[in-house]
Amino acid sequence: MNDVDVVVVGAGLSGLTAARDLAAAGLSVLVTEARDRVGGRTVNGTVAGVNVDLGGTFIGPGQDRVQALAAELGCATHPTYTAGDNLVFWRGRIRRYAGTIPRVNPVTLADVERTRLLLEQIMRRVPIGRPWDAPDAARLDSHTLASWLRKIHASAGARDLIGVVTKTAWGCEPDEVSLLHVAHYLHTCGGLNPMLDTEGGAQQDHFPAGAQQLSTRLADELGGRVVLNAAATRIDWTADGAKVTTDDSITHCRNVIVAVPPALRGRIVFTPTLPLAHDVLPQRWPQGVITKVYVAYPTPFWRADGLSGQAVSDAAPIYGTFDTSPTPDGPGVLLGFIGGSYARDFATLPPDERRARAVSAFATLFGERAREPIDYIEQQWGREPFSGGGPTAAVPAGAWTSYGRALATPVGPIHWAGSETAHQWPGYLDGAVRAGERAAREIIEGASK
Ligand SMILES: Cc1cc2nc3c(=O)[nH]c(=O)nc-3n(C[C@H](O)[C@H](O)[C@H](O)COP(=O)(O)OP(=O)(O)OC[C@H]3O[C@@H](n4cnc5c(N)ncnc54)[C@H](O)[C@@H]3O)c2cc1C
Repeated sequence: MNDVDVVVVGAGLSGLTAARDLAAAGLSVLVTEARDRVGGRTVNGTVAGVNVDLGGTFIGPGQDRVQALAAELGCATHPTYTAGDNLVFWRGRIRRYAGTIPRVNPVTLADVERTRLLLEQIMRRVPIGRPWDAPDAARLDSHTLASWLRKIHASAGARDLIGVVTKTAWGCEPDEVSLLHVAHYLHTCGGLNPMLDTEGGAQQDHFPAGAQQLSTRLADELGGRVVLNAAATRIDWTADGAKVTTDDSITHCRNVIVAVPPALRGRIVFTPTLPLAHDVLPQRWPQGVITKVYVAYPTPFWRADGLSGQAVSDAAPIYGTFDTSPTPDGPGVLLGFIGGSYARDFATLPPDERRARAVSAFATLFGERAREPIDYIEQQWGREPFSGGGPTAAVPAGAWTSYGRALATPVGPIHWAGSETAHQWPGYLDGAVRAGERAAREIIEGASK
């Protein structure tokens, strides 16, 4: 039995940010984390001795809160490698291109641009943080991205290219995600290009020591206030406080911050049962499914061919790649994303087959030299019980208008953090920091009233 002011459930970036702010405000805090590590959807791995991010990786302009936190914690960032041409594998052929939008055929490109403009027109009608208040919210939320693409008669090429974005951004297919969610998400990022760009966009920089370092540094500051291997299984609450139960402990507190992906709130038993919208929301806020793979070579050989290492493909398994080599001399490291329905199929294959298919996809993009990597590593986020998938929620049709108001609204002593609850850059590292700061502020300001 413990007594603290606040229990934070989840030692991801969001929960740890909240805990830091609460501790700085003089409140006693305990962070209870299910895994044997901190960082949640950020975790380091190694490939050929090189440190790589198996989860969240990049940050970019406009992501001010994660940048400020990184600066305070002394976590250095480095520009993502972009020199040279990008590649697109499209309809069975490889082409080189520069910029964000792959150079597929001109008719498809014109249609993609038309689709982007239409999407961004819708996006501007969706208020940030209150998508249900969009003038035509119910209609937008009744569409999936796929049904809307059909409605505007998007060409097969435009639909497929947007499908590639959907698989990598939300880990889902266009028919699994609400148009209202997509429009809101784009609005919170400032549009499609800021979301997709490397230079000047969300992939501009990364942390050479890994994005997990943000969380390990926060946890170091918090010391004994972070308890690992302690999944919260039950939260009993009244208007005045709560009791948080794990397998090994019961902690009484004035407030709780639940900082887990919305879908995983449903694995905690709340007594009394939460109000209906809060209770049902986890079933309607599923995580996407994404797998990240890295292949390493003696050198980043593609650079000598004038290639950036960035590629987009319309063919499974790898839909997008980046060069994350630490130096020009080697090892050369390529990152690949597998998302959406193929990530589900990929999970059913034996390990050797998964590796063979991933390596073959890199060879299709970067040539025969890519067929013999010196190392390979993968992380299947759909198989992580305490993430429930990734990179973020793939919110289906109807969910925002039916349950969205409950996403971040406190219930008695219970507050909600986690990147998905942020108003800016939800689903990103920056959103995780913002949501943690906001949840801590709610409690600190409440305590001072
Ligand atoms: C493959 C992938 C790529 C990504 N790429 C990027 C990127 O390039 N840039 C970017 O900005 N973002 C990216 N993201 C998203 C980013 O990583 C997340 O938005 C962010 O890390 C979420 O932080 P969080 O604290 O909100 O949630 P999480 O990191 O999910 O933390 C939640 C924590 O709660 C714990 N937990 C769950 N249930 C319980 C329980 N019952 N009791 C106690 N603890 C519990 C979990 O173990 C976890 O530690 C990516 C994510 C993935 C998976």
